[in-house]
Amino acid sequence: MIGVRKRIIAFLDESGRAPTYTVMPNPEIIKKDGAYNTEEGCLSLLGGSRPCKRYKSIKVKYQTLELQTCIKTYTGWTAQIIQHEVDHCDGVLI
Ligand SMILES: [Zn+2]
Repeated sequence: MIGVRKRIIAFLDESGRAPTYTVMPNPEIIKKDGAYNTEEGCLSLLGGSRPCKRYKSIKVKYQTLELQTCIKTYTGWTAQIIQHEVDHCDGVLI
């Protein structure tokens, strides 16, 4: 996002029993289902929420901090956060 050629996101994963801080090097959304329109705010933008299109369910290929490749499906709010952050890796703002 700021000229650093690395792809890494960090977020609070609230999909499990206990919320977990998750760090994902090299995240890649390889499948998405259930498009919907919503609004999001961003710490990188002034002026409140903006409309955007997201998906209810996403399958993400990523690496652990030990650089093991994993694939996991996320839904709901956590899926929306991941889509927002992966967009940042691609230089996309809402
Ligand atoms: Zn943002």
